[in-house]
Amino acid sequence: MFDVIVIGAGPAGMMAAGRSAELGAGTLLIEKTDSSGKKLLLSGSARCNITNTCEQVEDFINNFSESGKFLRNAFSVFFNKELLRFFRKRGLDFKVERGGKVFPITDKAADVLRILVKYVKDSGCKILYRKEVLDVIKRGDVFDVITKDTVFSSKKVILATGGLSYPQTGSSGFGFHIAKKLGHTVMKPKPGLTGVILKSNFLKEWQGVSFDDAAVSVYKDDLLIHKDRGEMIFTHFGISGPIIMHMSAVIYDALESAKRVFLSIDFKPEMSSGGLEEAFQQEFKNSPARKISNMLKEFVPATLVRRILEATRLDGDKRLSQVPKEERRRLAEKLKDFRMTVLFVRPIQEAMVTCGGVSVKEIDPKTMESRIVRGLYFAGELIDVDGKTGGYNLQAAFSTGWMAGSGQKD
Ligand SMILES: Cc1cc2nc3c(=O)[nH]c(=O)nc-3n(C[C@H](O)[C@H](O)[C@H](O)COP(=O)(O)OP(=O)(O)OC[C@H]3O[C@@H](n4cnc5c(N)ncnc54)[C@H](O)[C@@H]3O)c2cc1C
Repeated sequence: MFDVIVIGAGPAGMMAAGRSAELGAGTLLIEKTDSSGKKLLLSGSARCNITNTCEQVEDFINNFSESGKFLRNAFSVFFNKELLRFFRKRGLDFKVERGGKVFPITDKAADVLRILVKYVKDSGCKILYRKEVLDVIKRGDVFDVITKDTVFSSKKVILATGGLSYPQTGSSGFGFHIAKKLGHTVMKPKPGLTGVILKSNFLKEWQGVSFDDAAVSVYKDDLLIHKDRGEMIFTHFGISGPIIMHMSAVIYDALESAKRVFLSIDFKPEMSSGGLEEAFQQEFKNSPARKISNMLKEFVPATLVRRILEATRLDGDKRLSQVPKEERRRLAEKLKDFRMTVLFVRPIQEAMVTCGGVSVKEIDPKTMESRIVRGLYFAGELIDVDGKTGGYNLQAAFSTGWMAGSGQKD
């Protein structure tokens, strides 16, 4: 009989298991794949954006969806400083990149994983790989954790099985199934931080064109429901990049009930429509013999010019001196409001995180213990909290893991 069984050796499960065992609880960590932290190894393009330097807990939480407030207690105990201290103490230093993103100085997610695995081993925790948990049954005060060939018993169970994204890393939604079976509400899992598929016949041409600063508005039918500004990129399927990934969950929801969802892309957010028209006017004055297609290349990447002119019904060979004011205005409008219809959001299997999960209302935020089943704890992505890109999701996994693993010794 173990004091604690942790199911899932991702960042949340490893932190919970190591913490629990280091505090003296007899702990078993069960992982269904042949190694720990497969998703962690992919994180940050294998460089692991482990957290963010965002200093205030409240500011950090603003980078999560609504339920992110649940993390306030965990962050007040084990936040970014504590996380980095944990790794520094064990020999790994960090560097900060644009947007406060923190990466290991070695640029290797494998170094983060190596330290976590050692932490778990040194803590005295027993680890079993290639053991898929098939069921969790509560018998009085004891949990039976059932695998194909063995039943393990414990006083407490920490579920840290992740969400539904990237199933090849081991996360297949098992935790949602068990939480539901044990009486919990599971908010509908949906893809978060992923690209958006557009209806267009020229994506092959635009593929790879990126913007450091574009503004994208989401319309559900004709209602503006969301707007963001920053980096985006056109891809073979549609559109992606930070601002698109951050709005993918909103778009997913809109698609569920709208007749049409479209994006309005502002390629020149730093200029007003009037300012853009004036800039065109200046060009018209300075170079009246220039072709309009050549002028447009000063304002947007050359690859986009043909389709923008097409959408504005303008002849690219026209000389600037021949372009009437009305056409100039239409062109300025098109650059500020280029509309593209959304077909789908990329599937959850390809998403960076799973939105939805075990309802935070049913988990004690101070301990991560279930408010419904005594002795059952949750950690990591299977909880209904999801953050933006920038290191927020891993911090949440580590912080909830730490909390779930603390206080396990009666
Ligand atoms: C490509 C990619 C890049 C990312 N980059 C970043 C980044 O740079 N920064 C960031 O903050 N976040 C990033 N994320 C998100 C982050 O990796 C996850 O939020 C985080 O890994 C969640 O940790 P977890 O421990 O909750 O779940 P997981 O990492 O998914 O681990 C769950 C574990 O449970 C095991 N398991 C599942 N079911 C069972 C079962 N029945 N029995 C036994 N074991 C089981 C799985 O095999 C797995 O090992 C990225 C995600 C992806 C997909």
